[in-house]
Amino acid sequence: MKRGLQHCLLATFLLLCLITAAQAQGAAPQQHTVIAGETLALIAERYGVSVAALVAANQIADPNLIIVGQQLTIPAAGAGVVPSAFSPPDVIRVPLRPGDTLSRIARRYDVDPTEIMALNGIDRPRLIELEDEILLPVLPTYPRPFLAFTHSAGIVQGQTGVAAVTLANPEQPGGQFGEQTLHFVYRDKTRAGYRYWALLPTGALAPPGPRPLTVWVGETRVHSSVPILAGVYETQYIVLPPAKGELLQPARQRNELEILTQIWSTVTPEKQWRGPFRFPIAAGFLSTSPYGVRRSYNQGPVRSFHEGTDWSAAQGTPIWAPAAGVVVLAEMLDVRGGGVIIDHGLGVYSNFWHLSAIDVQPGQRVQPGDEIGDVGTTGLSTGAHLHWEIRVNGVAVDPLQWTTLGFPYAPMIAATEKAG
Ligand SMILES: [Zn+2]
Repeated sequence: MKRGLQHCLLATFLLLCLITAAQAQGAAPQQHTVIAGETLALIAERYGVSVAALVAANQIADPNLIIVGQQLTIPAAGAGVVPSAFSPPDVIRVPLRPGDTLSRIARRYDVDPTEIMALNGIDRPRLIELEDEILLPVLPTYPRPFLAFTHSAGIVQGQTGVAAVTLANPEQPGGQFGEQTLHFVYRDKTRAGYRYWALLPTGALAPPGPRPLTVWVGETRVHSSVPILAGVYETQYIVLPPAKGELLQPARQRNELEILTQIWSTVTPEKQWRGPFRFPIAAGFLSTSPYGVRRSYNQGPVRSFHEGTDWSAAQGTPIWAPAAGVVVLAEMLDVRGGGVIIDHGLGVYSNFWHLSAIDVQPGQRVQPGDEIGDVGTTGLSTGAHLHWEIRVNGVAVDPLQWTTLGFPYAPMIAATEKAG
């Protein structure tokens, strides 16, 4: 994701709170004592001022160098910030050199060319030759060993996002996304540093609004927040006759869910998949119930949603592994019927329910396209269909997103190469 957008969204969320806070308190000058893990960018965001305003107010020579215990004067709240819903990121103005091109400037200042174009209202790269100066975003700086930290600019309910960090040393980062513990994976070492990434899954009922994201290496922490954006999901109002309601058998459901939760919470450290997932069923079958449809039973509140995506298909239709992995469950379940679970590594699991036949065994390694079973209507099901569900760290996410993006998708990771 583009850092400019991320910055912009963050700034928007923070601004709304900070402007209100500033109005309540009046504009008395404030002092701030720098604590471990803070950067000028974080302090600026916290007080709703720009990095440039902080630098000016404190005559800071090197914005990358602030010291724990250092006293900073916080300029009047809102200084250097345009209080609008589309507040731009902090910018600096730099002169152009003869023969400068967009790509040359992007390389020199380590900024995404599309971000420069957006910031300067350039729609064709060659036009910058006519200007004599150009606006560049001021990228946040991070305490060592962090060299870069980036994440999805916003995540629509039900989608999976990505966080990525670049470190000066090969150390295992840890992280927290709301209530969730993150699993960072080492990717590679580039000129920029050691790169790690983690998945940020959200459910279809995740509360919209900013969700805190914290990443740490040892004692050093960096904080951000990711806007969770409302998704467009239908609501089904289901009326269950008393007899059918009893069929749901809460106790048996709970037992089954406990076994599954145990599986989903296990994180195997190797990523097994490559690129986008394939569809687990042949093209042309009717999608009867998409992921995320909200459900209200007997006029009750919406507390659950459809955790997978369904295709209506004749009994016996083959089901294929959508990506490489290891089978960890292959058995008949009370509620979900014939079930197969594939562990794709890193806490990512594909689940297939209501199968009439199972062709794999626990422990078996599968490749994309391998047949794992047949469509059926076993368990609590009213007609032959395939239910495919993807769990990431236990959260049921939209499986179709996984068929279009190869996680961790390239733009997220590319963004971390900018710093260093
Ligand atoms: Zn389903």
